[in-house]
Amino acid sequence: MIGANIQKINQEIGPNVRLIAVSKTKPLKDLLEAYHAGQKIFGENKAQEMALKHQELPKDIEWHFIGHLQTNKVKFIAPFVSLIHSVDSLKLLQFINKEGEKINRIIPCLLQIYIATEETKFGLNLNELTEIIEVLKSGNLKHIEIKGFMGMASNLEDTNKIEKEFETLKTLFDSTKDAYFEDMDSFKEISMGMSGDYLLAVKTGSTLVRVGSLIFGSR
Ligand SMILES: *Cc1c(COP(=O)(O)O)cnc(C)c1O
Repeated sequence: MIGANIQKINQEIGPNVRLIAVSKTKPLKDLLEAYHAGQKIFGENKAQEMALKHQELPKDIEWHFIGHLQTNKVKFIAPFVSLIHSVDSLKLLQFINKEGEKINRIIPCLLQIYIATEETKFGLNLNELTEIIEVLKSGNLKHIEIKGFMGMASNLEDTNKIEKEFETLKTLFDSTKDAYFEDMDSFKEISMGMSGDYLLAVKTGSTLVRVGSLIFGSR
């Protein structure tokens, strides 16, 4: 089941988009089943759960952190995390940089941009994004590599609205790249799309989709 689900999604998203299998709350045996079906990228939203699973599972897995990250939890994932999708404050970015410095590692991150109309979602607004870019440009965060943006659309049935939110993120990504990161090849990722909207996200320019329940079943 899990293997067939992964295969189907990979066919739909094509070779230029990477699938993050969101395995939060799922037992190791489900992750192993996905792994043996060829899935090598997993997404988790709790630092300690991710650290535990990393310890137990094969070492060629890429671990992506996708949830709200508390500063005091950064240390649990800093040594091995492949990409933190969910940087939602300058303070968090500075903490990640400090952890990276301690262990002499450059930690790849995405900036999570607020695109939804729901108040409950995390993410940076435009002022906060501008402030972070200024700090990045000053060259002070030597242990951070910014690889792009992440966004979460509203939890709605309204496809037009979700598509607009994805387009907003893509447009902001393009203009930010032009204005600040044109010379940086590594600024290239747009993480958007989940079980309910990943096809729409891919159509709108996503490079990383984060799919959980459609692979592993409901949580
Ligand atoms: C849980 C989660 C997902 C996956 O959600 P599904 O609807 O199960 O595909 C994607 N992104 C984030 C940030 C999540 O927390």
